[in-house]
Amino acid sequence: MKRFRQIYAYNLMCKYLNRDFKGGTSDSNDLLCEVFAQELAEKKRIHSFSLLAPVRKILPSHTKSIKAEQIRSSSFKILVQTFNRKLSAQFFIMPDTSKLLEFTNKFIVEDGTTISLKDHDTDYDHKQLPKAEGEALLQLGIQKLSELQDKLYIHNQYSMLIVIQAMDAAGKDSVVKHVMSGLNPQGVKVHSFKVPTPQELAHDFLWRHCLVLPAKGEICIFNRSHYENVLVTKVHPEYILKENLQDIEKVEDIDQAFWEKRYKQINRFEKTWADNGMIILKFFLHVSKKEQKKRFIERIDDPAKNWKFSYADLKERARWKEYRKAYEEMLNNTSRSHAPWFIIPADDKWFTRLAVAGIIYQYMEKLNLSYPKLNEGQKAILAKAKEELMNENMKESNGVTEN
Ligand code: ATP
Ligand code: MG
Repeated sequence: MKRFRQIYAYNLMCKYLNRDFKGGTSDSNDLLCEVFAQELAEKKRIHSFSLLAPVRKILPSHTKSIKAEQIRSSSFKILVQTFNRKLSAQFFIMPDTSKLLEFTNKFIVEDGTTISLKDHDTDYDHKQLPKAEGEALLQLGIQKLSELQDKLYIHNQYSMLIVIQAMDAAGKDSVVKHVMSGLNPQGVKVHSFKVPTPQELAHDFLWRHCLVLPAKGEICIFNRSHYENVLVTKVHPEYILKENLQDIEKVEDIDQAFWEKRYKQINRFEKTWADNGMIILKFFLHVSKKEQKKRFIERIDDPAKNWKFSYADLKERARWKEYRKAYEEMLNNTSRSHAPWFIIPADDKWFTRLAVAGIIYQYMEKLNLSYPKLNEGQKAILAKAKEELMNENMKESNGVTEN
């Protein structure tokens, strides 16, 4: 790891020296690279001044190639800062794992409380956590999740269901892409739920979701979910008529009691799943109307993003207030300690990903997962297997080869 860091830091530094730092000769640049790389290999956390110190130390013997003014020059300082910033985003700042555990308490909707979305920020206070540190923390979180996923899979007792709900362009896809990037695809499935098909409508509203729940050891992400049945259908109650339900013939039949029954049905199902070893975590990505507008315009202006935009999204945007009310009611009726909702600020994508990763990490960590412990008999079999394999080597080196 140390060697890897050195090589990586060396290469990265060369790149930046060539591009940004015009002062040095190629010899002096090489020397700087080595000093930086060495320093990085020893350090967990890097500060500009700690990078400058070793360069100063070697100055007397290399004054011909590196001049003191160059080291003090503003271009050099900018270079150090840029380098430092890039590195922090590339795993080199080893962030504090405990920071990953701060998000659950901040964003959970406690069972039995009534929240109002106006009390929840859509952006995040950058002074508390700078972006570079946040990005490094996310990399750490992804690495930790990958280790825990391995254990979850081998442990084979628990499964995990991650539900993601949000208005359009709030960053659902980006959470799925980034947070899950380090996981073994064998144990992760993502399901995106769209407008139900006639076959799906011929069953109860939970049917299509039950079909794809995670098996033991698996992690499953619902990109939109059974909650659409109390969200989009609440804003457009006419959709409920397609379900062909007894007692519901017209929109006027869909009253508050109908929605309360639906929340109860969802809660009952989730309780059963949780009682049978499913860890359920539900994330509402809370984006502002202003940020959504910005992202829609980006989708329209950038040809690479055009496909993401649908004119129909504007119609839903026009009903922002109704959606907000539906979300609030959903959050207040379906957050349970065995299946909590989290309201995640979603105006800064990097923060959204980090908070989601941190919360998933914390819940996985709580499971105290471990690799299976071998009994004495199993250990003896492993020892015997190793001995046989070693004897194979001996035979080969004595010239006894088998075809
Ligand atoms: P993006 O954020 O990238 O637009 P998306 O999740 O919105 O992704 P789309 O294909 O644009 O994907 O939209 C899926 C649509 O399906 C949403 O408008 C959603 O409300 C709708 N939908 C999902 N489940 C249901 C349901 N049970 N009943 C009615 N509509 C549903
Ligand atoms: Mg959409």
